[in-house]
Amino acid sequence: MSESKRQVTTVDARQASRRKFLKGLAAGAVAASVPAPALAQGGRGFLGYSSWAEYFQKNYLLMSPEEKAAALRRLEEKYSAKYGRKVTVKDTGPREDVLFAYALDLNKCVGCRRCVYGCVRENNLPREGEQIHYIKVLRFEDGVMDFERSDRYYDPKEVPEDGYYYMPVQCLHCRNAPCVKACPVKATWTEPDGLVVVDYNWCIGCRYCMAACPYEGRNFNWQDPVIPSSELNPETHYLGNRPRMRGTVEKCTFCIQRSREGRYPACVEACPVGARKFGNLLDPKSEIRYILENKRVFRIKEELLTEPKFFYFFG
Ligand code: SF4
Ligand code: SF4
Repeated sequence: MSESKRQVTTVDARQASRRKFLKGLAAGAVAASVPAPALAQGGRGFLGYSSWAEYFQKNYLLMSPEEKAAALRRLEEKYSAKYGRKVTVKDTGPREDVLFAYALDLNKCVGCRRCVYGCVRENNLPREGEQIHYIKVLRFEDGVMDFERSDRYYDPKEVPEDGYYYMPVQCLHCRNAPCVKACPVKATWTEPDGLVVVDYNWCIGCRYCMAACPYEGRNFNWQDPVIPSSELNPETHYLGNRPRMRGTVEKCTFCIQRSREGRYPACVEACPVGARKFGNLLDPKSEIRYILENKRVFRIKEELLTEPKFFYFFG
């Protein structure tokens, strides 16, 4: 059986299992056959959820304001209990007249990867076991832009190195995002301010979006992420840096928990040389608009018509 056929079967099987479960519950049989403590244990499927209410939670896009408020409260209680400290989960919405975009000055980037680790801290990425990094910094030989020949594992004593330049890549928040079109359950979508987001609770882990993304912008949690309590960023957003779980896909959100409150993404602040620029494309006075109007910007794989809102330039 081909890989895609196997994945379809998995999705169908998952949906069938949910239907069967509902049927069983109506008959009063499930409560007797599934012990409640099983809900709080690891894993996905209904065994990965901390309560029945979480298991039956709707897609975020379909929730009423009351249902959203209840879901946020539930998650705050769950995370606070798990990490032994107060965790907040908000869902600050998009502001009118804002369309976020990013630009990166390749002349300035020195390849230090401080953006990578600033992102790990801000976005509660796993610290042990399987590593997930939303930002990958690629090293190229001077004069070459061939992704096949780039090196993401370079490890010199000092950067920048003679003869090389560096290009950080991450989710580019495409306007015409193939990942969004590929999702069979609408667990990922584009918000009005241009942020491409994921409802981790609704994601079924089929990874169609990962296959559709031409930029390796997405990551899969093969295991429950391990974050020591002392290192957890307790200020989280439902569609952003709240702790995720095994079996979900995740990616850069342009730090939705910060950008929607008028702050820069963590990677912008972490960069010691000011290579990273971020702002509102709809504001004619913004730095991002200045760059687009005055620099020779380019986007990766422009020919695919994905229209990334992430631009590169040589400043
Ligand atoms: S870079 Fe990939 S994950 Fe990000 S919006 Fe574009 S297609 Fe989707
Ligand atoms: S922190 Fe700035 S200079 Fe360092 S790798 Fe990231 S973008 Fe480049």
